[in-house]
Amino acid sequence: MGSDVLLLNTPAIEIWPGGLLHARSNHDARLLARATQVLRRKRDGRYLAALVPGGLVAMLPNAQREPGFETARITLEQARRPQRVGIERIGELPLSHLRERLDALGLDDGYGARAGLPLVPEPTRLSLAGFDRYRRPLWLLPQAARAWAHLRVAALRDDVVLDAISGYRSHDYQLGIFERKLARGQSVDEILTVNAAPGYSEHHSGRALDIGTPDEPPAEESFERTPAFDWLRRNAAAYGFTMSYPRDNPHGIVYEPWHWCWHDAAAPAA
Ligand SMILES: [Zn+2]
Repeated sequence: MGSDVLLLNTPAIEIWPGGLLHARSNHDARLLARATQVLRRKRDGRYLAALVPGGLVAMLPNAQREPGFETARITLEQARRPQRVGIERIGELPLSHLRERLDALGLDDGYGARAGLPLVPEPTRLSLAGFDRYRRPLWLLPQAARAWAHLRVAALRDDVVLDAISGYRSHDYQLGIFERKLARGQSVDEILTVNAAPGYSEHHSGRALDIGTPDEPPAEESFERTPAFDWLRRNAAAYGFTMSYPRDNPHGIVYEPWHWCWHDAAAPAA
């Protein structure tokens, strides 16, 4: 079990496998149909370039001058070399890009200090763990993707259906939400009452999942009264998943019965 469909991650740009992205114009559609990989700007999801049999084709004017384009191009080139035998270690991206962007937005790290939370690095690659409730690709750290697959199968055996509300989220995605709200005149403090501070979410690690069950609204406290939640409380730990934000957690984060995080130490040999 597990998937070989990988997302290659760089600080500013994601390298998506072909076949998963929707075209936004006829021109895009023709390119995406032939693309084996697509370079996508994390900040706003824009497609920058497509790798087609003839080479890398720009999808935005001056795509090559985008910050981080060269890093992404080199990452793509390295990934296309023949794979070495054995398990490739999945590393973490440096936090320097995040720190620069937090500074530029005027978001200091007072939030982390107050909440007792560290900045969470992004992994260098993620694995397709199926699709979420909204039919969007669900990306997780490869080991977490396997654990999620096993967890769902085990739940089904007990007639419990688990679905994913969301998995991996990049720093830039979260920063993009802040940028757009700041541009509309909201203050950082106002935004923080609704959106998590970029950089501090477990979702950045590719280990965290918001879990739901059919006919239940996403990310609501009422999830704790479902058979799905009861099943998770009894069984999730055996698959390496724990609830990160129980009631009265020390981080001052609201109770999130839907948010579960995979930790390798507890993982079963599956
Ligand atoms: Zn969550």
